[in-house]
Amino acid sequence: MADICPKCGLPLEICACEALEKEEAQKIKVYTTKMRFGKLVTVVEGLSADDLRKTAKELKKKLACGGTDKDNRIVLQGDHKEKVSKLLVELGYNESSISKR
Ligand SMILES: [Zn+2]
Repeated sequence: MADICPKCGLPLEICACEALEKEEAQKIKVYTTKMRFGKLVTVVEGLSADDLRKTAKELKKKLACGGTDKDNRIVLQGDHKEKVSKLLVELGYNESSISKR
Protein backbone atom coordinates (compact mmCIF):
# COMPACT_ATOMS: atom_id res chain seq x y z
CA MET A 1 0.00 0.00 0.00
CA ALA A 2 1.26 3.45 -0.87
CA ASP A 3 1.93 5.99 1.82
CA ILE A 4 -0.81 8.52 2.30
CA CYS A 5 -0.11 12.19 2.91
CA PRO A 6 -1.49 13.16 6.34
CA LYS A 7 -2.30 16.62 5.04
CA CYS A 8 -4.35 16.06 1.92
CA GLY A 9 -5.07 12.32 2.10
CA LEU A 10 -3.63 11.64 -1.35
CA PRO A 11 -0.94 9.05 -2.04
CA LEU A 12 2.46 10.68 -1.60
CA GLU A 13 3.31 10.07 -5.25
CA ILE A 14 0.72 12.52 -6.44
CA CYS A 15 0.50 14.79 -3.40
CA ALA A 16 1.72 18.33 -4.01
CA CYS A 17 1.80 19.56 -0.41
CA GLU A 18 5.56 19.58 -0.09
CA ALA A 19 6.06 21.48 -3.32
CA LEU A 20 3.36 23.95 -2.34
CA GLU A 21 4.93 24.46 1.06
CA LYS A 22 8.29 25.16 -0.50
CA GLU A 23 6.77 27.69 -2.82
CA GLU A 24 4.97 29.31 0.07
CA ALA A 25 8.16 29.51 2.10
CA GLN A 26 9.87 31.54 -0.57
CA LYS A 27 7.01 33.94 -0.92
CA ILE A 28 6.64 37.08 1.07
CA LYS A 29 3.07 38.28 1.13
CA VAL A 30 2.15 41.89 1.62
CA TYR A 31 -1.50 42.74 1.93
CA THR A 32 -3.89 45.03 3.68
CA THR A 33 -6.83 43.87 5.67
CA LYS A 34 -9.50 45.40 7.80
CA MET A 35 -9.34 44.89 11.50
CA ARG A 36 -12.13 45.37 13.96
CA PHE A 37 -13.71 48.81 13.87
CA GLY A 38 -12.77 49.10 10.20
CA LYS A 39 -9.15 49.98 10.80
CA LEU A 40 -6.84 49.09 7.93
CA VAL A 41 -3.60 47.28 8.66
CA THR A 42 -0.80 46.11 6.40
CA VAL A 43 0.33 42.53 6.94
CA VAL A 44 3.70 41.10 5.93
CA GLU A 45 3.92 37.31 5.94
CA GLY A 46 6.59 34.83 4.92
CA LEU A 47 9.67 36.31 6.57
CA SER A 48 12.00 34.00 8.44
CA ALA A 49 11.87 34.16 12.21
CA ASP A 50 15.33 35.71 12.26
CA ASP A 51 14.29 38.53 9.99
CA LEU A 52 10.91 39.19 11.47
CA ARG A 53 11.83 41.40 14.41
CA LYS A 54 14.57 43.28 12.61
CA THR A 55 12.42 43.95 9.58
CA ALA A 56 9.43 44.99 11.67
CA LYS A 57 11.63 47.50 13.47
CA GLU A 58 12.91 48.95 10.20
CA LEU A 59 9.47 49.18 8.67
CA LYS A 60 7.98 50.85 11.73
CA LYS A 61 10.81 53.36 11.79
CA LYS A 62 10.61 54.17 8.09
CA LEU A 63 6.84 54.36 7.98
CA ALA A 64 6.59 56.05 11.35
CA CYS A 65 3.69 53.84 12.34
CA GLY A 66 2.85 51.37 15.05
CA GLY A 67 2.93 47.65 14.54
CA THR A 68 3.58 44.21 15.94
CA ASP A 69 5.67 41.21 14.99
CA LYS A 70 3.85 38.17 16.25
CA ASP A 71 2.87 34.74 14.92
CA ASN A 72 5.40 34.95 12.09
CA ARG A 73 3.90 38.05 10.61
CA ILE A 74 4.27 41.76 10.85
CA VAL A 75 1.13 43.83 11.27
CA LEU A 76 1.50 47.55 10.62
CA GLN A 77 -1.16 50.07 11.31
CA GLY A 78 -2.48 51.79 8.21
CA ASP A 79 -2.37 51.08 4.50
CA HIS A 80 1.31 50.88 3.51
CA LYS A 81 1.22 48.11 0.95
CA GLU A 82 3.10 49.91 -1.82
CA LYS A 83 5.63 51.48 0.50
CA VAL A 84 6.25 48.26 2.39
CA SER A 85 6.99 46.40 -0.83
CA LYS A 86 9.53 49.03 -1.85
CA LEU A 87 11.12 49.09 1.59
CA LEU A 88 11.44 45.31 1.63
CA VAL A 89 13.36 45.49 -1.63
CA GLU A 90 15.55 48.22 -0.14
CA LEU A 91 16.18 45.93 2.83
CA GLY A 92 17.49 43.30 0.47
CA TYR A 93 14.51 41.08 -0.25
CA ASN A 94 14.07 39.82 -3.74
CA GLU A 95 11.34 41.75 -5.50
CA SER A 96 10.13 38.66 -7.33
CA SER A 97 9.52 36.84 -4.05
CA ILE A 98 7.20 39.56 -2.79
CA SER A 99 3.60 39.13 -3.75
CA LYS A 100 1.05 41.84 -3.29
CA ARG A 101 -2.53 40.84 -3.06
ZN1 LIG B 1 -0.45 16.08 0.53
